[in-house]
Amino acid sequence: MPRRTKIVATLGPASSDPGILALMIAAGVDVVRVNFSHGSAAEHRRLVATVRALALKAGRAVGVLVDLQGPKIRIGKFQEGRVTLLAGAKFVLDAGCDIGDENIVGLDYKNLPKDVRAGDTLLLDDGRIVLGVSSIRGARINCVVEQGGILSNNKGINRKGGGLTAPALTQKDKRDIKLAAELRADFLGVSFPRSGADIRWARKLMRKAGGNSLIVAKIERAEAIAALEEILDASDAIMVARGDLAVEVGDAVVPALQKRMIRMARDKNKAVITATQMMESMITNPIPTRAEVSDVANAVLDGTDAVMLSAETAAGRYPVETVAAMARVCVEAEKEDTLGTERRRADPPTDVEEAIARATMFSTNSLNIKAVAAMTQSGKTVLLMSRMYLTVPIYALSSVTETRRRVTLFRGVYPIKFKGARDPEKALIMAEDELLKRGAVKNGDYIVFTIGEPFGKAGGTNTMKIVKVGELRRA
Ligand code: PEP
Repeated sequence: MPRRTKIVATLGPASSDPGILALMIAAGVDVVRVNFSHGSAAEHRRLVATVRALALKAGRAVGVLVDLQGPKIRIGKFQEGRVTLLAGAKFVLDAGCDIGDENIVGLDYKNLPKDVRAGDTLLLDDGRIVLGVSSIRGARINCVVEQGGILSNNKGINRKGGGLTAPALTQKDKRDIKLAAELRADFLGVSFPRSGADIRWARKLMRKAGGNSLIVAKIERAEAIAALEEILDASDAIMVARGDLAVEVGDAVVPALQKRMIRMARDKNKAVITATQMMESMITNPIPTRAEVSDVANAVLDGTDAVMLSAETAAGRYPVETVAAMARVCVEAEKEDTLGTERRRADPPTDVEEAIARATMFSTNSLNIKAVAAMTQSGKTVLLMSRMYLTVPIYALSSVTETRRRVTLFRGVYPIKFKGARDPEKALIMAEDELLKRGAVKNGDYIVFTIGEPFGKAGGTNTMKIVKVGELRRA
């Protein structure tokens, strides 16, 4: 069984060199994340073109996730680039301040003074600096430093408990959605959504720009937890964005939320990425800590589709080694298969594709079935099948490049480029040959095929066929 859990790797200075990127893809990257918080449009275009060329050369489908910056609220700049804040000192956040010092700094979100009250706690730089709000005077937020330290230019601000009103898409995000459409991004990450409406808004802009990326809702606001159900309904996937989420809701709450989010996503037939600090120490070390190994393994055991690397591959010293270590940990955790017992779902299927996906699931628990071969146009059936913890690989055979790239995110699904044939018998033999060539099956094994009939016409999957390898030729 090949590795089932997918690896998303963020690109950055440490991984933009084509030689390194090729090694990362060889080590197991399934999806690259292009972080639109950094870099220019020209850099993003070049990076995506490089990834696609390398994937083609490697004969692999690699998905591209464009991650929008979103309304991350940041402080301005300091005269000296950084200051040291001492606990107990007064400090002012002022939307009107141009350049800061030990007493005051600017803000990029002019409405912040309207969103906070005396008594609130503001967390800067992922919670490393804590400010207590003592009063608001016009555009000035007067604070007392509760936890001091070094504070440098443009660090992020969160309000403990959430509640900031910045809309999910900024003007920059709207421009970036057009670029994502132009780049044919396979996935669009929406940062800081608060509701299903935010996701529908992003999808509408994406469609208007001529793109059809799958929409990934990053769950990183306290409000998004309350609205999880409607956000899931509106999106194709979610990201457990543990960095900002931990700052808003408190770090100790996040592990249980991660489990809940993964369970809910899978139940709603959506995909899920677990993100942030998974292999953090590998930014500077060639091996992970025991705790990081456990973190990745636990996300796999929770049932995540993908695990994500951020600074480890964007700015770390060991991007290739980190991907290899993550892949190794995933494979080992998957052997435990604690999810195998969850194969039966009580609720009845809601459409034909889901009924076929269920039938496939039950069949793979019997006979000597070694692979599922899904002839798919849109990838919908393979997503449904992969929500049900099959223990056999699901090969997504598709002539559609975009579909092969999308299924890179789905747990246990492996894309194969497949032209097919008009004659159904011939197409099945060709598919069987593909699996034999890859060593996925041998003579005498069974394959479950899922097909949309009539053959050669676009339409939903409506047929399931169980075939003993070698018998099609003899017939
Ligand atoms: C996060 O906050 O955990 C996250 C993934 O978002 P970003 O890296 O964009 O801050």
